[in-house]
Amino acid sequence: MNAPLPSRMLAVRLERWASQPVLTEVDVPAPGPDEVLLRVDAAGLCHSDLHVIDGAAGVLPYELPFTLGHEVAGTVVATGRGVADDWTGAPVAVHGIWSCGECRACLRGRDNYCLRLAGGPIGGGLGYDGGLAEYVLVPSTRHLVQTMGLSPVDVAPLTDGGLTALHAVGAHRHLAEGGTVLLVGAGGLGHLALQLIAATPGARVVVVDNRAAARDLALRLGAHGVAATVAEGARLLATLGLGSGVDLVLDFVGAPATLADVPHVLAPGGTVAVIGSAGGALEAAKGRGLPPGWRFDAPFWGPHADLEAIIALAATGHIQAETTTYALEDALTAYDDLRAGRVAGRAVVVPHELPSRL
Ligand SMILES: [Zn+2]
Ligand SMILES: [Zn+2]
Repeated sequence: MNAPLPSRMLAVRLERWASQPVLTEVDVPAPGPDEVLLRVDAAGLCHSDLHVIDGAAGVLPYELPFTLGHEVAGTVVATGRGVADDWTGAPVAVHGIWSCGECRACLRGRDNYCLRLAGGPIGGGLGYDGGLAEYVLVPSTRHLVQTMGLSPVDVAPLTDGGLTALHAVGAHRHLAEGGTVLLVGAGGLGHLALQLIAATPGARVVVVDNRAAARDLALRLGAHGVAATVAEGARLLATLGLGSGVDLVLDFVGAPATLADVPHVLAPGGTVAVIGSAGGALEAAKGRGLPPGWRFDAPFWGPHADLEAIIALAATGHIQAETTTYALEDALTAYDDLRAGRVAGRAVVVPHELPSRL
């Protein structure tokens, strides 16, 4: 049974490349076969939204216009033919990579690297209509995850920020255990990755961020030290009793100013994982003064199974997103704040008034 819904809604739409998104009214979509309509309870803003907004025409393989917002928590309010009735009313998180479920990557649980998504839209907010709206259509219940009693504001940042952090950290946990970690950028993703690293046995972690507020947040979340530059961070790590050289660099910024320096602070066999996309580059080569056995990794988001895992970690109190909430009407201000580095943790848009927590 589908309850009556409004016919129009507010949405934050990207209508032209390299220009500001607009808050406008659009139709509330009706779910077709296998589709579900969610009331959006919370939608996180991501730095990658800014790269999408700023991109020149032809850079991204998406057609305009579409609604932004790829970190979504909501409630199923309508379902299409073929969807089991018991989904209606379920609080859910959306896995933002709308993978095919059938290619060899998907069949091996590497659905974040789905072969059929290469060169086209990825999911809601990234080529398809996303969650910066009152409602969002999701093509299949395959992309939904139960939220285990967490509030939607806590859940939304886990769907990209938390999931990406878990995927990036998980691949290199063996280096973090009993090792040294330099984490660059304690923003929306970095502050979640820090909690995962801080809980890793024997890991020593120093956080590099040029914002004092982000460094304070990092110290509160378990960093053993903080620094304003990569070189200073590497020196600080060397004084923490494990010898010099960094076993694992997690760069959540990827800026030109820091990325080029990063391989030079690695210990032999160390790894640089770059998650942020702020336009930096580094030269990969053997020799050239770089340590033997160094590796480079560019992980992307994370698979469905890791979204279930990060939500379970949050539900058991092992990780929590720091959030700043905004009304949907203030979403463009939220983007301005994100661009200016004024957001503590993750900016989360709450399109409807949430039932107050007693
Ligand atoms: Zn993102
Ligand atoms: Zn696939």
